[in-house]
Amino acid sequence: MSFALHGVGVSRGIAIGNVHIIERNQLEIPEYNITPDDVEAEVKRFESAISSARQQLRAIRNHVPREVGSDIAAFIDTHLLMLEDVAITEEPGKLIRDMQCNAEWALRMQRDALVNVFEEMDDAYLRTRKDDVVHVINRIQRILLKHTPLRHEEPDSRLSGYIVLADDLTPADTVLLQYQGIVAFATEFGGPTSHTAILARSLGIPAIVGVHQARRYVREDEQLVIDGTRGVLLANPDKRTLNHYKRRQREEKRYLTDLKKIRLAPTVSQDGVTIDLQTNIELPRDFENVREVGASGVGLYRTEFMYMNRETPPDEEEHYETYASVIRILDGLPLTIRTLDLGADKQVDGGRQSGPVQSNPALGLRAIRLCLKEPALFRPQVRAIMRASALGPVRMMIPMLSNVHEMEQVLQMVTELKQELSDKRIPFDHDIAVGGMIEVPAAAVCADIFAKHLDFLSIGTNDLIQYTMAIDRVNEEVNYLYDPLHPAVLRLVHQTLQAGERAGIPVAMCGEMAGETEYTRLLLGLGLREFSVHPAVLLEVKQIVMHSRIRDLEKLARKALQACSGGDVLQLMQS
Ligand code: PEP
Ligand code: MG
Repeated sequence: MSFALHGVGVSRGIAIGNVHIIERNQLEIPEYNITPDDVEAEVKRFESAISSARQQLRAIRNHVPREVGSDIAAFIDTHLLMLEDVAITEEPGKLIRDMQCNAEWALRMQRDALVNVFEEMDDAYLRTRKDDVVHVINRIQRILLKHTPLRHEEPDSRLSGYIVLADDLTPADTVLLQYQGIVAFATEFGGPTSHTAILARSLGIPAIVGVHQARRYVREDEQLVIDGTRGVLLANPDKRTLNHYKRRQREEKRYLTDLKKIRLAPTVSQDGVTIDLQTNIELPRDFENVREVGASGVGLYRTEFMYMNRETPPDEEEHYETYASVIRILDGLPLTIRTLDLGADKQVDGGRQSGPVQSNPALGLRAIRLCLKEPALFRPQVRAIMRASALGPVRMMIPMLSNVHEMEQVLQMVTELKQELSDKRIPFDHDIAVGGMIEVPAAAVCADIFAKHLDFLSIGTNDLIQYTMAIDRVNEEVNYLYDPLHPAVLRLVHQTLQAGERAGIPVAMCGEMAGETEYTRLLLGLGLREFSVHPAVLLEVKQIVMHSRIRDLEKLARKALQACSGGDVLQLMQS
């Protein structure tokens, strides 16, 4: 039977393929007693499951693609080590003998006991290891229950051509899946500006989030169509529908090919205003796309993806080598490196070292707050950025500034490092530009104060909207309040642009709003002259700029700033 489910389209395009459903941690564990005669056979069954789990993990480890987080192998090693620990290899055997119970039940009792021990630990990092215990034990349970292993963790592109459906995906999962060759994904949870959604756009795979309860209706291996543009998931499409989507796929391809024709044209409006179009980059391999779309540089390089799928954070040399290779690819185009923005929905393994578990992570210890608290994490990155500045045009950008004291501490560190590098005769750009992201309403309101001390500003609308509207950007229940057109958001954007103009420093926008083409004209009217967007949409933004008369758009913007609601602004834009 064919049917449609709706969610929020977060990465455009159409994909057609069979579905693979990711089910995690939801195993039905049978509990039954066995006769004394069967006890030794049950222990053997358990031990052979442990050996199979080891074999599976070794196979995965041998096939980890190099690009997928340089240290994922170490992550797998941790799981392998757990499979040597008596708490996992021997205790369940004792339980089987003492209680004459089945292996799955024994393993579940042992898991609960271990989880309790981990939960009571004071050290937050050790507490997080609880997840590893659960993963490892689930792997053994799946073997005992004769379930197939989770395919996305398996080597050899077994998901090539598949569409993945999951309750939720972490950014790290998304990278792994893309390397497995999936063509699209849909999740039951998540919001349009979650980092998983941003990554999907950057990887160029259609994606939908917030498709409630999709796993209840969709069956493994059914044929699906994912329309990432309209946020629709179609299961078992009939022949006519399928042909319709195949035609749309071809049209989209043609449209994108046509757009390429303006790649080298100057980005100038009808009334002669030049606009700077840069790109947002998540993964080093995306740098190849920067020139392909004719961008003038990279306005946001999100470095936290270097910290994913690994146990320990990268050291200064690794940072430096990564930036050096990127600078080589950019070959003279400017690169804006954003310092580490871990925390909130970017909970990755490297760097998650201490501190209490946060009940409200978006408002907690993330980005510059975490960096200033843990200089051992931050300083090597800043030093590496400064060293890399000797190799090409590099700017350093600080995320999530909320007060001047944070900015002063960063500038102080930069001054100290300049001295240190000079003393050691290590080359760097003495005039390296240091800028800040305006993502917190407090910083937008006081943008004039920040503008006096920084070399540039960049508006991060994903967070600015989240914090202005008081909505968690990954919570699909409050997605409906995510409104870039809310007059409060527009006024904060406008205020920041004006502060930059008065201080004589450039202000860019690198949040998703900059790349959403329905807002391009309004942003031009508000005075935005530098856009940093993901490569897939850059040429569309450019086309709109080339067809716009900014004088006229300024009138529209003035009215929008006086509007009462986002709905009113939308009407103004459509009239
Ligand atoms: C933003 O908040 O708009 C932004 C660009 O940063 P990130 O999405 O990485 O939080
Ligand atoms: Mg942000």
